[in-house]
Amino acid sequence: MIFLDAAATTPVRREVLEAMWPYLTGEFGNPSSHHNLGEAAANALSGARAAVAKALGCRPGEITFTSGGTEADNLAVKGIALARRAADPALNRVVISAIEHPAVEESALYLQRVHGFEVDVVPVDRNGVVTVEALRAALSPETALVSIMYANNEIGTVQPVRQLAEVAAEHGVPFHTDAVQAAGWLPIGVKELGVDALSISGHKLGAPKGSGVLYAKGRLRLEPLVHGGGQERGRRSGTENVAGAVALATAMTLAHAGQSGLAGRVTELRDAFIRAVLEAVPGAVLTGHPSQRLPSVASFCFPGTSGESVLLELERLGVVCSSGSACAAGSDAPSPVLLALGIEPEVAHTAVRFSFDSTVTSAELDQAAEAVAAAVGSVQGLGRR
Ligand code: PLP
Repeated sequence: MIFLDAAATTPVRREVLEAMWPYLTGEFGNPSSHHNLGEAAANALSGARAAVAKALGCRPGEITFTSGGTEADNLAVKGIALARRAADPALNRVVISAIEHPAVEESALYLQRVHGFEVDVVPVDRNGVVTVEALRAALSPETALVSIMYANNEIGTVQPVRQLAEVAAEHGVPFHTDAVQAAGWLPIGVKELGVDALSISGHKLGAPKGSGVLYAKGRLRLEPLVHGGGQERGRRSGTENVAGAVALATAMTLAHAGQSGLAGRVTELRDAFIRAVLEAVPGAVLTGHPSQRLPSVASFCFPGTSGESVLLELERLGVVCSSGSACAAGSDAPSPVLLALGIEPEVAHTAVRFSFDSTVTSAELDQAAEAVAAAVGSVQGLGRR
């Protein structure tokens, strides 16, 4: 099997499993307990926090461990917006892009539905890019928060985060970015990016599902969403997932260490794969930005097919990929991300995403490109019969 669905999830890396194992077994203490076992767990947790902070270039106190990317996004969007409005009731608008992951979009819509916020949606261009001008036009004196993702999970487009964050800063508005897909592939230093908050998920990086991180700058106030014993400096109550935090920190450290050369190598493989697919499949369309995209994502529409049928055929041929985001799987509606690019709904239905991990090889992608041509050909043939 050739697994080309790494944007959905990745297996746990052996080094990560080895690093977390002790905290699932012998060193199973609760970090809040005042005995040796508890202290060992607390030390492991603070070591993990320091390692994540090092990878992000921030202070350990700015890191909150969460149950994943979704919770980190929820805490950022709701937590920052609610805290800011509590300090100034005029701040009752949030700005998001038209192609956010549901974790951000639904958090914003929740603020609208339950807390009376207004949500301003910034459009993207046909490549999925949010321009500085479009963001500027969406900002107002009432904006409490801007949340724009670093890299899109369906089309791989990378946003000019630094420039966008600068625009928000000019208006004194905190800027959050969902870096779940970017981590491991793109520079993630929060100072260089100029962001105030940033979300990461462990399972996209070789740590287990259910581990995540929110970076929130300095004194940025966050209204907690989970109340209880006051863990994570009151930002996220609940006995900490020590093994998950150690796993995430190990995965981030490994990703950071292995990054040099990786993005360049995989970008070349990606571009060769894109060329091969566009040549072999008449009518195939690349979605997302042609170059300003994640090294690891190649996404297409194959007009005249259905994405789901192509997927099934590809799986039969030994290639596993996805018809968009895993989160939208099971839904018949065309992807809102593709619609936001101006793609017609009947074409959006034909989307297929290939996403790679760091071990991807050129031989695998050559084989996959041949399989794509065969799969699309056979689905189109079936359609014509
Ligand atoms: N944000 C983006 C861009 C994602 O791709 C995902 C997962 O697919 C998430 C957030 C959610 O992360 P998690 O699965 O850890 O909840």
